Amino acid sequence: MKQHYLWELRPYFRQVAGQLVLGSLCGIVMNTAIVLPAILLGRAIDMALAFEQGQADASAVTWAALAFVGGTLATEGPRVLKRWWIFTGIGRMMSNLRADAMRGVLDWPMARLHTSPVGDLMARIIGDVEVLGLGLREFINETWDTLLFSVSMVVAMVVYDPGLSLIALLPVPFGMWLGEATGRWVRARTTAARQANASLTSLLQEQLAGIRVLRLFGRSSMAVARVEQRSQLLAEANLATALLRGGLTPVYMALMTCGVVLVVWLGGQRAATGAISVGAFVGYLQLYLRFTQRSFRLPQMFNSIQSGGVAYGRLKPLLAPPLPVAAEAQSFTSFRPFHISGVDQQPEALPVLPARPMVVSLESVQFSYPGASVPTLQDISLDIPAGAMVGVTGPVGSGKSALARAVLGLYPLDTGQVRLDGGSLPDIPAAERAARTGYLPQDPYLFSDTVRGNVAMASGAVSAQSPPATLREALSIAALDEDVQGMADGLGTEVGEGGIRVSGGQRQRIGLARALAASAPNRPGLLVLDDPFSAVDMETEARIIAALREAFGPGAPPERRATIVLCSHRLAAFPQADLVIVLDGGRIVEQGTHEDLMRQDGLYARIYRAQLAVEDAAVSARSLS
Ligand code: ADP
Repeated sequence: MKQHYLWELRPYFRQVAGQLVLGSLCGIVMNTAIVLPAILLGRAIDMALAFEQGQADASAVTWAALAFVGGTLATEGPRVLKRWWIFTGIGRMMSNLRADAMRGVLDWPMARLHTSPVGDLMARIIGDVEVLGLGLREFINETWDTLLFSVSMVVAMVVYDPGLSLIALLPVPFGMWLGEATGRWVRARTTAARQANASLTSLLQEQLAGIRVLRLFGRSSMAVARVEQRSQLLAEANLATALLRGGLTPVYMALMTCGVVLVVWLGGQRAATGAISVGAFVGYLQLYLRFTQRSFRLPQMFNSIQSGGVAYGRLKPLLAPPLPVAAEAQSFTSFRPFHISGVDQQPEALPVLPARPMVVSLESVQFSYPGASVPTLQDISLDIPAGAMVGVTGPVGSGKSALARAVLGLYPLDTGQVRLDGGSLPDIPAAERAARTGYLPQDPYLFSDTVRGNVAMASGAVSAQSPPATLREALSIAALDEDVQGMADGLGTEVGEGGIRVSGGQRQRIGLARALAASAPNRPGLLVLDDPFSAVDMETEARIIAALREAFGPGAPPERRATIVLCSHRLAAFPQADLVIVLDGGRIVEQGTHEDLMRQDGLYARIYRAQLAVEDAAVSARSLS
């Protein structure tokens, strides 16, 4: 059976249980004492009337007035404390949910990431958590401030006058029924509003990321029109929700206040005939008015909880399992107002493993991109000995990048196996793989951080693991040292979001340095470099190849060597490779050493000769100029 979402959120309530209990205790005290001001006001009036008739002395009136003030303080003090504990508690729950959503998305399989727009995920992690938080706050707050409040009021009214109360409270069940009956509309409209919000966020994210393209192609107004259109849809969806909720409020209020006429008419008669005192009548009327001012929120509370349920439904697919309270480093964390679960835990450092070059083997690998109708790689079998350098080439779209990704297990394979040092890839823990391999993707994403931060990919305590020597070596191999010296703040230079403040060539080389250094304190045993020279000139390419060979190639001590898989359409390094693989249409069509393949005079030989001719032409053009 489907559980109610509030029940499913148990672990999150547990994480802040201390605060919620304290807040609830204050809520109980406040809402039990809530009847006191009305009752004590009634008493004070009766006492004042008695004083007027000479039946009480002045000090009795003073005490009655002081008792009224005391009763008011007994409700207002706990109200402040209740708000503080419950509001901060719900705030923590929202932060914990956001952290778990991030954890969850980072663990998603690639196929799912392929089909989820970033903007949609952002809308869920930010906006839906907000709506859910509002629902939770209403649920807890109103449980005490409306539910218990109403119970206290009703009990006090029944004690005053059971008959009158029975008639005056007749509209209440109708209000409850209306709240329940309108729930379906509230849910439908909230869902539409949340979807409109996500769709606008996705569009904004995409258009802002591509702002330069839009400007360059003169498409700014087109982008604005699209954003306007989706904003309009969001505004309409929000308005529809607000109209429904706003429209229901007066209906609830009108229903609940129907009884006030009866109270004044019947109660007034009783006071006039002396059946009850004037003070008792005033006290009763106070109780009833306060009850009607608040009780219309009961059906509203159901509606807010329903909206929260919609938001939770959208958030749930993102959530990683919540962190158990028992795993917290400190005790009594559920009482600490600003504590976020797991915040005391150090980010997981990479395991330290013995350095050695890795053996890579692919057995009948077939791989398709998620949603693709034809496989991108087919029937790939390959044995790469430890410390070898393998060059992978082929025409555009032949599957070079796909092979690089398959070797690192970034996507699941259709069939076949990839083994690293004999271990099947899916069985190797992600941290161990990260500690032993270095990868330069075709588009090495740079974060808005410094050059150092982007190369070491670490912060705080973890960055200490990347010693300056490793960093310096990586920068020097990637031919970046001169560039870094020329930057305003050297290694501390901020590169901007996506590396917008450095050149394309620098971005690529920062990516290469990262591939070499990010596994520190380990030395990578396998380097997979996907098109590392597409944005550098031929001289820099030659310099990088020589440096790579020196640091990781046959000349280096055995434990410092690495197996290198170099996927590239530029072949300058290929004559030095131990093995060359030529792909076409996702299959291996040629393999052997450079010399073998040149002798075969096939696809590889044609590409190599064509490239040589272009390079020769470039060299002679330069010498002429
Ligand atoms: P290469 O690196 O040799 O240019 P790729 O491995 O990038 O080739 O691409 C091989 C094939 O896979 C191409 O036909 C390309 O269109 C397709 N492809 C590449 N990336 C994706 C992707 N993310 N989703 C679906 N298909 C893709």
